[in-house]
Amino acid sequence: MSPVAPATAPAILVTFPVRPTSLRAHEEQHRMAELVFFSGTMDCGKSTLALQTDHNHAARGRAGIVFTSLDRAGEETLSSRLGLQVPAVEVDPATDFWHHVVDVLESGGRCDYLICDEAQFYSADQVDQLARVVDELRVDVFAFGILTDFRTKLFPGSQRLVELADRVQVLQVEALCWCGARATQNARTVNGAMVVEGEQVLVGDTSSAGVVAYEVLCRRHYMRRTTATSAMTAHMSPTPLPFADADARATAGPMAVSS
Ligand SMILES: [Zn+2]
Repeated sequence: MSPVAPATAPAILVTFPVRPTSLRAHEEQHRMAELVFFSGTMDCGKSTLALQTDHNHAARGRAGIVFTSLDRAGEETLSSRLGLQVPAVEVDPATDFWHHVVDVLESGGRCDYLICDEAQFYSADQVDQLARVVDELRVDVFAFGILTDFRTKLFPGSQRLVELADRVQVLQVEALCWCGARATQNARTVNGAMVVEGEQVLVGDTSSAGVVAYEVLCRRHYMRRTTATSAMTAHMSPTPLPFADADARATAGPMAVSS
């Protein structure tokens, strides 16, 4: 190492100062955009974070487009369980993110970022389009989605996001299993019973297949197929009680509680 420090601080910075505002604007326009994937189970607040992210960027004067697919509040809406919702572009298999953003920019519109909720339902090709939007249009893409389906297999959209994202962030708000442990699995129930076979995408509702619902479970209870309902049923199954008034309680029904 030379003990002599190299010459630095070109004089031009002193005699020709750059205005901080224009420098910031320049950096803002030329910085690299990012593809970020926020993943978690159901009930961990993904849509709430998506709405908050949209709000934070919009509050700084950035223009964004919100996309979602099969939202609980219906088409063309991004909603959170906490009650907030905003209009959104519905993503279906025909959606082309690249052309959508190019159309906006070519028609004189602005687009600095995309909010992409329910990204697990996007196709791998659509995630490739999102990566291209980031790299070639310098538009930030913030994608939010569930990692695995009710069979514990990766959704194609989530798999592609894990493969391509600049960053994958696992949400820190943890969903909880009925037992209180951290829930890592998304279980599907049909008529109350947990199933591990069927179509990958089936929106929770009453259909010809029966009443379809979803429940987050810890891995242990997923493997044992023990949902909150089946755990309660097992708990209330007839077993001999070491109390003299057991028969009286049983007659009064399972809701009877002695004080
Ligand atoms: Zn559990």
